[in-house]
Amino acid sequence: MFNFEFHNPTKIVFGTDTIAKLDQLVPANARVLILLGGESARKNGTLAEVRVALGAREVQEFNGIEPNPSYETLMQAVELIRREKLDYLLAVGGGSVIDGTKFVAAAVPFVGEPWDILTTHGQVVTAALPFGSVLTLPATGSEMNNGSVITRKASHSKLAFMSTHVFPQFSILDPTKTLTLPTRQIANGVVDAYVHIVEQYLTYPANGMVQDRFAEGLLLSLIELGPKVLATPNDYDLRANLMWIATQALNGLIGAGVPQDWSTHMIGHELTALYDIDHARTLAIVLPANLHVRRTSKHAKLLQYAERVWGIRDGSDEQRIDAAIAKTAEFFEAMGIKTKLADYELDQSAVDAVVAQLEKHGMTAIGEHGDLTPEVARQILTAAR
Ligand code: NAP
Ligand code: FE
Repeated sequence: MFNFEFHNPTKIVFGTDTIAKLDQLVPANARVLILLGGESARKNGTLAEVRVALGAREVQEFNGIEPNPSYETLMQAVELIRREKLDYLLAVGGGSVIDGTKFVAAAVPFVGEPWDILTTHGQVVTAALPFGSVLTLPATGSEMNNGSVITRKASHSKLAFMSTHVFPQFSILDPTKTLTLPTRQIANGVVDAYVHIVEQYLTYPANGMVQDRFAEGLLLSLIELGPKVLATPNDYDLRANLMWIATQALNGLIGAGVPQDWSTHMIGHELTALYDIDHARTLAIVLPANLHVRRTSKHAKLLQYAERVWGIRDGSDEQRIDAAIAKTAEFFEAMGIKTKLADYELDQSAVDAVVAQLEKHGMTAIGEHGDLTPEVARQILTAAR
């Protein structure tokens, strides 16, 4: 196992009727900005519940953070906060609203051009406004981590940053607030969480015994729960489990002390930036092809994954690996998520365009060994056609 430091300061408040706890979680004298996506929180009554819980505090709203939150939109929130001297942020929504709030929190006190926060992947962040979240979509883990992914529309750049300053102080996870989600977003959430686990698990053996078993437990839970949550969308316990699994998939615990890949995410981000494909859908395209192309360096962990997650014990090594990759793609397809570029009307020209974007963004040595070059990315995308 590698050396590591693990400190996750985000308080989780989980369960039904927990939004009322905002009164204890947000400082009484805070000047609050609630950050929101499109219409969902307003339509579903979540926003009204939040406003009641905040009581007499001074509260303003910022609406319109889009899926794959944009720098252009978020800078308007930065200006509003600076102008109105607001001092506490509350994200109400899914990963896009929470990621956007993290960027805004870091950008408000930042001296200089805030886009540098993204191009340096967070290295220049030295402070951020405090914030909490009310999560309405289980998927990204953003509610309990310090990562954020922001798109600059003008240049088709979707870049990530991390900083110890942008952990939410708290996140409220009320599974009943996810009951209004459309099927497409539930499926996206299952697949995004699945791939987060794989990015931290399916690398090379590093003797992280409990990290492996924990990751396998989360993967097995998603495989069991995924089809059920689509079939019975009103089941509270399924929703509660999905919510807690997705949080744990990316709160730092399973990745502590073990190698991490993240190349499926980096390649997927370019597909979203260029073609506006949902984040989880890009991952479903890239992951099976990525595992196939890098099967030699991932050999030992692919065999472990085949056996422990999919129960595959028969056949040669290569046959078992093929079967595990096929099972992975079948699982995504069973969630209603297509796994080939052609399913999204993309052809060879998309392969060339994504490779060019990776080079433009300096993503030329990614993956757990730093050996995923643009040439390897080309092989992966070609295999994903
Ligand atoms: P999202 O983009 O936050 O939301 C997708 C859609 O779901 C929106 O249209 C939203 O509508 C709707 N929605 C949210 N909650 C709802 C509810 N309770 N009922 C009905 N509709 C609801 O989706 P996401 O998958 O959570 O976030 C994706 C973003 O997170 C991507 O940019 C991705 O790159 C990023 N990401 C971040 C991390 C991380 O660690 N920080 C990890 C993976 C991915 P409204 O806009 O109307 O609210
Ligand atoms: Fe993700």
